[in-house]
Amino acid sequence: MNEAQFLVLVVEDETKMRTFVRIALEAYGHRMIEAATASDGIRQAATQSPDLMLLDLGLPDADGSSVIRRVREYSKMPILVISARGAEQSKVKALDEGADDYLTKPFGAAELMARIRVALRKVSPERDGQPSMVHVGDDIRIDLERRLVVVRGKEVHLAPNEFKLLATLVRRAGRVVTHHQLLEQVWGPDSGQQVSTLRVYMTLLRHKLERQPARPKHLMTEAGIGYRLRLEA
Ligand code: CA
Repeated sequence: MNEAQFLVLVVEDETKMRTFVRIALEAYGHRMIEAATASDGIRQAATQSPDLMLLDLGLPDADGSSVIRRVREYSKMPILVISARGAEQSKVKALDEGADDYLTKPFGAAELMARIRVALRKVSPERDGQPSMVHVGDDIRIDLERRLVVVRGKEVHLAPNEFKLLATLVRRAGRVVTHHQLLEQVWGPDSGQQVSTLRVYMTLLRHKLERQPARPKHLMTEAGIGYRLRLEA
């Protein structure tokens, strides 16, 4: 089956990086337009209607986060942030502003394409004619509507907040979800809950879902940022 072709806007001031991304995208049949500044990126995002934006956070004229804020005023297009290793704070900020995911420099073409694929995939839990059923790997099935979790053929009981946490990750499967976003979704804004609470709940979930809780294959930690549910093992 041929993959769909997309128009990707790359906002990045490094010429080398733009060239690398162009080669990767065109190899997969996608088209690319580019901007070297935040202001040009904002302009092209509005005028060219790209399917996805790849955004460097360190731009010469403005912080990449300001681009996200502007674009989010009118568009839900997936935004993938590119940032330097160790720049956790700016990544978290960008994700909380509405970016969908991030890539850390340097990254390879395969990683880039995998992230783009996930970002463009509509998370539709509809498969095999069972609405709201999501398959995680070969042996975990989650029914969001009926709040049912089946692990290796056996129904597993989850406490309400455990299920909420899992459901939040399922709805953004493949993408990173920040600590802040998870705390807000599960416990509500202003709950005062800390990242340590999340850690406890993630440990509980891993023990119920993962074959080897200490070496998870699906409930992945993104150090300093949040968590990511990986659908494929
Ligand atoms: Ca830069």
